Amino acid sequence: MNTPSAATMIEVRNLRKQFGSNVVLKDISLTVEKGSVVAMIGPSGSGKSTLLRCLNLLTIPDGGHIRVGDHAVTFDGTAACLPGDRKLAEYRANTGMVFQHFNLFPHMTAVQNVMEGLVTVRRQPKPQAREKALELLARVGLAAHAEQYPNKLSGGQKQRVAIARALAMQPQVMLFDEATSALDPELVGEVLNVMKALADEGMTMMLVTHEIAFAREVADQVIFMRDGVVVESGPPAQVIESPHEAATRSFLARFN
Ligand code: ADP
Ligand code: MG
Repeated sequence: MNTPSAATMIEVRNLRKQFGSNVVLKDISLTVEKGSVVAMIGPSGSGKSTLLRCLNLLTIPDGGHIRVGDHAVTFDGTAACLPGDRKLAEYRANTGMVFQHFNLFPHMTAVQNVMEGLVTVRRQPKPQAREKALELLARVGLAAHAEQYPNKLSGGQKQRVAIARALAMQPQVMLFDEATSALDPELVGEVLNVMKALADEGMTMMLVTHEIAFAREVADQVIFMRDGVVVESGPPAQVIESPHEAATRSFLARFN
């Protein structure tokens, strides 16, 4: 999966990141094909979140190169390599990110959360942005909750608002960082169903997950990370069911 082609949506080359003396990403290279789903698994602290955050430019890598769709950045460890504010906002909107803890704006209703980027980044008139936001809330099953504030929503509902908010920007890729890890078990399914529907519609997705059965079902590629390196990657049937590496086997044994 390391040879870019015309159908490559995400390209990561020689990505490096360290925090102080802690080298968190060690020369990561990978490609993600348009319309495919990549699941990242691995122990806590292996660099999965940092990799997703680098893809969204929330964390600035020390070196390497990232291309997501039409947007490419080569890193030199300084902020100078970043695009200017407007282009940076566009870049981030194009890589929709969903976090474990939702990160909704608490003082805004569900529909206001979803329309916010359309108004501030895309400069859409409010009525048009609102219409689009209501349509997206309906798509994630929340038409009846548009006027609720986040503190009146369940975790599963909050996460679906967060997904609708990312989708509003019509991103070329969606990144999910343990999107269901903070949810009560009975609420996990409703979020996974939305993610599955997105995958079925052809969205290019990268997700960090501990839902191994979901990764097995939905992912085209599974990446096992440990200590800042990709230990192995391949189709789920191979990585999950007959891993080549002992480290992958011992990690997966926890889930049996
Ligand atoms: P994972 O998501 O696989 O659990 P992370 O990417 O969150 O791993 O973290 C990888 C390593 O980077 C950990 O050792 C973590 O402590 C460190 N780390 C992550 N973010 C920061 C930060 N902002 N400052 C310092 N260290 C960080
Ligand atoms: Mg993490």
